[in-house]
Amino acid sequence: MSTDLFIGGRWRPASDGSRIDVLDPANGEKLADVASATVDDAIAAVDAADTALAGWSATAPRKRSEVLRRVFELMTERVEEFAELIVLENGKALADARAEVVYAAEFFRWYAEEAVRVLGTVQAAPSGSNKIMVVRKPVGVSVLVTPWNFPAAMATRKIGPALAAGCTVVLKPASDTPLTALAIAALFEEAGAPAGVVNVLPSSRSGSVVSAMLDDPRVRKLSFTGSTEVGQVLLAAAARTIVNCSMELGGNAPFLVFADADLDAAVEGAMVAKMRNGGEACTAANRFYVEESVAAEFTRRLSEAMSALTIGPGLNEGVQLGPLVNAASRDKVAELVEQTVRAGASLVTGGSPLEGPGFYYPPTVLADVPADAPVLREEIFGPVAPVVTFTTEEEAVRLANDTEYGLVSYVYTGDLGRGLRVSEALDSGMVGLNRGVVSEAAAPFGGTKQSGIGREGGHEGLLAFTESTYIALSW
Ligand code: NAP
Repeated sequence: MSTDLFIGGRWRPASDGSRIDVLDPANGEKLADVASATVDDAIAAVDAADTALAGWSATAPRKRSEVLRRVFELMTERVEEFAELIVLENGKALADARAEVVYAAEFFRWYAEEAVRVLGTVQAAPSGSNKIMVVRKPVGVSVLVTPWNFPAAMATRKIGPALAAGCTVVLKPASDTPLTALAIAALFEEAGAPAGVVNVLPSSRSGSVVSAMLDDPRVRKLSFTGSTEVGQVLLAAAARTIVNCSMELGGNAPFLVFADADLDAAVEGAMVAKMRNGGEACTAANRFYVEESVAAEFTRRLSEAMSALTIGPGLNEGVQLGPLVNAASRDKVAELVEQTVRAGASLVTGGSPLEGPGFYYPPTVLADVPADAPVLREEIFGPVAPVVTFTTEEEAVRLANDTEYGLVSYVYTGDLGRGLRVSEALDSGMVGLNRGVVSEAAAPFGGTKQSGIGREGGHEGLLAFTESTYIALSW
């Protein structure tokens, strides 16, 4: 596969010849290097996207749909190839990578179907004097910036709806995981997408490259997935040219277990919510709040399931937990656990980094975690489960909502009335009610508070790449 930049339908090196090393997190060794875009390359990509925009937005929705459908088919034929590439650059276990590819491809299928359903509206004005007609059109050239934790799905969740709506895109993937994004670019080339509709630009100079694109008046949309800190910087940058922004940011998901819950199901859900992707997910359960009467039993069972996981290089058969993405991530997780133990928490299992090579951290369960421990405030992004007890429903909801984040919450209870009441009271964009996973191409994914602005997936994900034009008329 090519490791150059994909601009205007051509593969080309960076204008200054620079490259980024991509490491294998399983051993810390260099895996490949890819071209690292300069500001000039970024402007060239905007040129290409802008040149392609008129033709692509005027292309019949059915034709746009067929390109997306073809890319869905190509990706689905190559699940294994993509999964191995993801494991190599990200580290996750092969089963997680396979699941990611299927999920990622689903955005192409879903938006191939949505491309032919961009509906407008017509209504009578309340005065009866005229009609109000609203049509939807593509917002325009879109800059997409994605993180390393789901190198395929975070890109397809943006490219799918953007292309369905008639937009052209410049994707800047994370520097740790650029290979998967380049492989997705190659699928569009193979599927016959016109030159310039999809451009992919890895760059180690993400700040200057993205900022230059946002300052270009031809760019009308920024769709970002990543940390809240970088999201804040980009929102400020987007303010300069009033660029339309969608922000999928950090999370700090609470996982509530009531005493009336089916405890086996709660532990099973907790394992998925915590350990999918090795805990490196914005949706990862970050804090477990368990009703006092079942807390000891839940903690025992969770710790038993966590410590039974097989750890090793993600490509090895039977491995359930791969390394963290890089040394800095592993060190951050280790530091959070040490701080929490120093603050008085007890270690039930795990608790110290594993010998390298590779960036491994073992599944870890912490009990008796003090309410002000940093592990309850910060996104852990690793296989660590802090458990806190509660005694009443009100207390559980208050603790769960006591965060600046609001991406997702999980609730386990045997009482459906309570489940729905608590789901409504939780201040998050998504709730898993007796489910440990919420991600679904057909559903609106996104958060409240500092977890973001807007939704991806479902019909809302398509609308995010459109503008409405209101036409006042009489007939
Ligand atoms: P990150 O550091 O914010 O990076 C995300 C992307 O932004 C990368 O492509 C990065 O490029 C780029 N970037 C970094 N600094 C930038 C700047 N100053 N200007 C423009 N772009 C910049 O996040 P991450 O560590 O990759 O990903 C983990 C975070 O993503 C977590 O907080 C997680 O919760 C969040 N996330 C959220 C969702 C969601 O849907 N809400 C989904 C997945 C992940 P480089 O790699 O080159 O630095």
